[in-house]
Amino acid sequence: MTIQYFDSHAHLCNDEIYPTIDSIIGRARTNQVTNILNICTDLDTLAKGLALQKKYPGIYTAAATTPHDIELEGEIAFPTIARHARNGDLTAIGETGLDYHRHGATAETQKYFLRRYLQLALECKLPVVIHCRDAYADFFKILDEEYIVEGKHAPGVLHCFTGTLEEAKEVIRRGWFLSLSGIITFKKSLELREIAKWVPLDQLLVETDSPYLAPQSKRGSINEPSFVPETVTAVASAKGISVEEVAKVTSENCFRLIQKTSQT
Ligand SMILES: [Zn+2]
Repeated sequence: MTIQYFDSHAHLCNDEIYPTIDSIIGRARTNQVTNILNICTDLDTLAKGLALQKKYPGIYTAAATTPHDIELEGEIAFPTIARHARNGDLTAIGETGLDYHRHGATAETQKYFLRRYLQLALECKLPVVIHCRDAYADFFKILDEEYIVEGKHAPGVLHCFTGTLEEAKEVIRRGWFLSLSGIITFKKSLELREIAKWVPLDQLLVETDSPYLAPQSKRGSINEPSFVPETVTAVASAKGISVEEVAKVTSENCFRLIQKTSQT
C-alpha cells in the first residue's frame, strides 16, 4: 500500500501560491499528498477555492474570516460564507478563532464572530478549524458555552498548535483534533515534539499552513502541501512509530473530521 498524506490546512488560493496552483497540486501528488483542506479567508480566495475543488478531487474547502481581519471584513464576508455553508459547498468552517498576540481586531469583535461561526457550524453540521494564540482561556470558555451537542463538544481542530502541554490536554479532553505544522521540525521546538509524543495518534492531524511556515529543510521558502511529509517524519520520530502509520492515521483522522471517506 502506498503512503498517502492529508494536509489538513493550506491556503492554496493565497497570492503567493495560487498563480502556480496547477504545478503545486502536481508536486503534492508526486509526493503522495493526495488530500488537502484548503482554507479560504476572504471572498476572493473563497471564489477561487470553490472552483478549485470542482477541478481537483481531494481538495476540500473551508472558509471564514481570520481573527486578524475580522474587524474590517467580518460583516462583509459572513453572509456569503454562510450561504455557501448552507448550500453544502463547504467542508468546514474556518479558520476562525481568537488571536490576542497580533492586534488586528479587538477581543470583543473576535469573540463575537467566533460565536457566530460556531453557531453556523452547528447549524450546518460542519466541523470548525480554529486558530488560537494567547487566548486559550477565552477560547475554551466560548467553546464550552456555544459548541455542545447532546452533552458533547461538536467536532473541530485546533490548527497549527503551538501552545503548552496543558493547553494540548484541554483540546484533547474535548474530543478535538490537534494539528501540528512544520514548526515541529524546527530545531528549537523541543516542547512541541514532547507534545507530539503525548497527543493520542487518533486525535492528531498534520498540516503545512502553506504558504507560511515552511519546514526546517525548506526554511525561508514559500511553503506548499508537498512539504507535509517532513512534518509527518518529525511526528513519527517524536512518537517512535513509522512514517507510514502517522501518514495513514492522520489521513483517516482528517477524513473523520470532515465526515467524508477517501475517494482513492
Ligand atoms: Zn492558516
